[in-house]
Order: sequence, then structure tokens, then C-alpha cells
Amino acid sequence: MTSIRLKNMMITTDKKGVSQFNKTSFPQRFGRYSEIRTQDYEFQFNLKGEIKSIRGLNMSWPHPSEILRRTDGNDWVYHSVGASAGPRTKVKEAIGEYYLPCPIYPTNTVWAFNPYSDPNIAQAFGAWYQLFGTLFDTRQQGLIPEIKNFIDLVMNNDDNKLLQQTELLHSIIGGRLSVLPPDTRHVEYEVIPLVIADGCLYHCDFCKVKTHQKFQPQPREKILRQLEMLKAFYGENIQNYAALFLGNHDALAAGRELVEWSAIEAYNRLDMRNAFGNNPKLFLFGSVASLLKADDTLFEQLDRSPFYTTINIGFESVDEDTLHQLKKPMAVKEVREAFEKMMTINRDYPNLEITGNFLLGENLSQEHNQSLTEFLGNIPNPKNGKGAVYLSPLMGGNRAESLLPLFYQIKERSRLPTYLYLIQRL
Ligand code: SF4
Repeated sequence: MTSIRLKNMMITTDKKGVSQFNKTSFPQRFGRYSEIRTQDYEFQFNLKGEIKSIRGLNMSWPHPSEILRRTDGNDWVYHSVGASAGPRTKVKEAIGEYYLPCPIYPTNTVWAFNPYSDPNIAQAFGAWYQLFGTLFDTRQQGLIPEIKNFIDLVMNNDDNKLLQQTELLHSIIGGRLSVLPPDTRHVEYEVIPLVIADGCLYHCDFCKVKTHQKFQPQPREKILRQLEMLKAFYGENIQNYAALFLGNHDALAAGRELVEWSAIEAYNRLDMRNAFGNNPKLFLFGSVASLLKADDTLFEQLDRSPFYTTINIGFESVDEDTLHQLKKPMAVKEVREAFEKMMTINRDYPNLEITGNFLLGENLSQEHNQSLTEFLGNIPNPKNGKGAVYLSPLMGGNRAESLLPLFYQIKERSRLPTYLYLIQRL
């Protein structure tokens, strides 16, 4: 670590953050990073010199624990804990985290809170641009090599470059990922994406995140090519990623051999053994059909793999008419069967966890709400807190006044940890 005071800035390179993603009421930085502090702001950068977060330090910043984070998809997400988004305890209860993520793009949030209209937050972006000017002026001074290299890296990563980098990432994996599994909240959505299958099995009518492709596993050569390009893309910064997302909407349907092979190839080729914290996580989506079809060998192999694996399944409803109206081509009997399988897997495999999503919406019927409340309230023998349930508000027209009471009503009865699912893209 090297620190230097320069003009009105304190520059520190190669800081070490926490080695585990902890749930804390104050934002913590995971991994290795560098930092520039001015009187009013704290800017954090990854090992490529790309801006990762901005936090205000003066009295006009809404709350000392609030922070603007930038994703590898080049989106800003404001982490709010303040009164404007509801009392902090309620946020933790609702989404399982101490902060409410507020992405800069429209999503399925139930809160009508827009932090970007707050001039104090808007000014943070202005301060980020100003920083470039200040850094430019320091480049002529006789700086020690570590600091000079760091400043050069930051200067290299202006808005255009950041956009180009995101376009490059998307071109490697075949496009922007419209949604990440809700469980990636446990690693602050910081995952390396590897797409092993395009499309999904169902193409449900209500779904706003689907791709229109037919389900199609990727050939192994294409997956290996992605891995090679991803390794080059992340460069030295790859050590800051302790989690892998196997995409896209139903990687589980790609089958035992491809899932297992892809996870192990990624672990070895992306050198995840040496990732910061040494506690690798694997995330993927599955469907009712792919979960029912998957045999025990897959779960045994994943359980023995170097990862703690979480598979998120879209169950949606336990009401036949609702499934029909949503044009989700499956029967309640299958949903119940898949849910039971989820409970068995969560009980039998210590390094594997299945979580599930159900829908929440103002326009869904009383029967949907009632059947879901009863179903979650009557789960037999839930074990050790594994197997969270996420209630996913349908996009559009979600109002906190009507949806939050319904959510809490279902959550209160549920025998599994139950949270709201906030769609975040990459
Ligand atoms: S809800 Fe899931 S299965 Fe249905 S279309 Fe969307 S991504 Fe595909």
C-alpha cells in the first residue's frame, strides 16, 4: 500500500479490503483496490483503474452509509439506507440487506424512490468528472512510479473507455445479462458471467427479462473461448472476483455434464483458487422442469466441487389459474414436486442450496396470494435457514402501499426466509 497527499487529494494504492462479503450496516470494500479521498468524496477504483464507487463525505451527502456503486455493466446503483427509502430495519427485513439497491435503470422495485433526482447525489458525478482535471494537472509533477501508474490508469478509464469495456464484456458473453440471480446479493452482485446456454425453456408471457432465443446449450469450444477472453478482460483484477455466474436463464437445463464441466473449467482457467477470500461461490438459474429432470449425480458433483453453489428456481405460483394466465406452461403438481425436491437437496447437501421465486403483483388474484401464503406457511421441517424464497414484483405499476403489506403478510406466515426480489442486470 502506498499513500501520498497531492493537492487536495489523499491517494492510496493497493489497499486490502475485507476478505468476505459481510452483511454490515456500513459499506465495506471487498478485495484489493485503490482510493482517492478529497474533502468531499471518497472514490474507489479496481485494479484496472476503473471507478467502482463514490461516497460523499460532507454533511450534504444523504447518509454516511450510502454509496454509489458502478457495476461491470457500467450501471450506477445507489445503495440507500436512509429514511427516504423506508426505515433501515424494514429494508433489511424486506430484501435481506442493510441497503436498498437503486439502479439507475427502471426495474421491478416497489419503492417510488429516485435518488438520482437528489442534487447532492447528482453532484457526485460532477465531482468524478472534476477529478479527471485535478489528476491531469498532477501528471507533470515528479511522482513515485506506483502513484504515477495509478493516475495513468484512472485517466485512461474515462467514460468512453468504461463504456467500451462494458461493450467488450457483453460481446464476450453474447450480450447484456438482463437479470442476475437474487442470491448474488451475497457477493454484492460482483460475479464473473459465463454463458453456457442461451434462451430458456418456457418464454412466459409475463416475463420482461427473457431472451427470445430457443434454449440452446453452448458448444464446449465456445465456452472455452469465452473463458479465455474473460481471463484477458479481467486481467489482474480477476483476483477480486470470488463468484461465478453460469448463465443464462436456465443453465441447469444444460445438463449435468456441461454444468459440472463449465464450473470446473472456469475455476481452473480463471484461477478462482487464488481469488481474494478463497471462498468461491457459484450461481445459476434453473426451472421447474430442469430441477425435476436433474439427477442426484449432478448435485453430488456440485456439492463436492470447490464452490458453494446456489441454484435459483422460478416457481412463480401454486395456483393453476394463475400459471395459466401467466402462460407459464406447467402444472401446480410439478411446482409442488420441484419445491419438495428443493427442500430435500437443501437438507442433504451442505455445499449446495436451492432458492425459489414466486410472483407478487397487484393484478394477481386472491387465489394466488392465498394459495402462496398457505403453501409457504405449511412447509414441513424447514432446516437450517437454507432455501430462501424471493417474491418477485411484476414489472410496472408496483406500488409500495399495496405490495408491501401483501409481501409482509406472506413473509410473516412463511416458514422459510422470505425476501423481495429486485431485478438487477449486468
Ligand atoms: S420467467 Fe424464466 S422461464 Fe419464464 S420466460 Fe422468464 S426467464 Fe424464461
